[in-house]
Amino acid sequence: MTETFEIIEKAVQSHSLTREEISVILKDDSINDFLFKAADKVRQKYVGDEVHLRGLIEFSNICRCNCKYCGLRKDNNLVKRYRMDIKEILNLAQRAKQYGYRTIVLQSGEDAFFSKEKMCEIIKEIKKLDFAITLSIGEKTFEEYKAYKAAGADRYLLRIETTDKNLYEKMHPSMSFDNRVRCLYDLKKAGFETGTGCLVGLPSQTIESLADDILFFKELDADMIGLGPFIPNPQTPLKDETAGDLILSIKVMAVTRLLLPDINIPATTAMETLQPDGRIMALKSGANVVMPNVTCEDCKQKYEIYPGKAGLNNSPEEYKRVITSKIEAIGRTISDGYGFRTSRLN
Ligand code: SAM
Ligand code: SF4
Repeated sequence: MTETFEIIEKAVQSHSLTREEISVILKDDSINDFLFKAADKVRQKYVGDEVHLRGLIEFSNICRCNCKYCGLRKDNNLVKRYRMDIKEILNLAQRAKQYGYRTIVLQSGEDAFFSKEKMCEIIKEIKKLDFAITLSIGEKTFEEYKAYKAAGADRYLLRIETTDKNLYEKMHPSMSFDNRVRCLYDLKKAGFETGTGCLVGLPSQTIESLADDILFFKELDADMIGLGPFIPNPQTPLKDETAGDLILSIKVMAVTRLLLPDINIPATTAMETLQPDGRIMALKSGANVVMPNVTCEDCKQKYEIYPGKAGLNNSPEEYKRVITSKIEAIGRTISDGYGFRTSRLN
């Protein structure tokens, strides 16, 4: 066996690797099939064959931040902005209920209109419909996180995006890496199932820095990891950069599964955007979650973080049908539970 195979075997047994060992795996493309199968086996052993579907509501595309890669950045004047009211959000949640989803993911730009009080009201109303609630609404204070938790939110997604502090600060004008990390530890402290993740293929990002990202996920003991390739958006300063690589993204995800065997890992939209079967590839390489978009047609088109986002041409009903049959075709089942992290580590 080559050194790389041995490193993968070690990760399967011990769920622990060094930065150097992770880098060897990420650089060696001769082992990809072996890695994907190893991650698939670990996924099956620790979280089973069920796939959790989470209904995604993109309720505002207004953002005070200027992340260089994102189409929703404040300085992008070409995007048509929208903000849903609570009634619209609840209507979409009702529809998600009809599709059988047990979790609502509320995602938006960093939109100051949604004060702590407004968010808590939305959370409480959605909770009445018997959903688990995931928030993905950016950087807040510890006090705000605690209030959302007390109102009934269960999970929070906040990608670290990259653990390379220099690169982070280049990509995020007037944001601070230290504050991003502070938010993630505050979310844990507030009692959230905490999700993070990274962008793969940011300009000048190295393999070693991706290895650091994976080690950061482990150190945080993240409950969910969502990662995907960077996709250049023509309305941003990174318009001429090369897109991230799908296979490298799936490799980073697979190594994450080896190191954090019992967490929830979505097969992300960006993966499907780069390749039509990208989500299924991810589900066969360690992922166990899909987040179907239930946002209404008009808003979905405007929530353009990058062009050609997968699923834009399917209605939520169609998407549910298509994804269900694809999942069943690879021998997996759709979960009817909330899909919390349930440790099988013991
Ligand atoms: N504003 C919240 C935040 O940033 O956490 C949530 C919404 S934001 C659109 C969700 C994720 O989209 C980000 O964490 C980022 O990784 C991803 N994203 C933004 N622009 C992207 C791009 N051009 N390619 C791939 N992913 C992108
Ligand atoms: Fe705003 Fe999130 Fe996009 Fe950054 S990634 S510009 S915070 S929506």
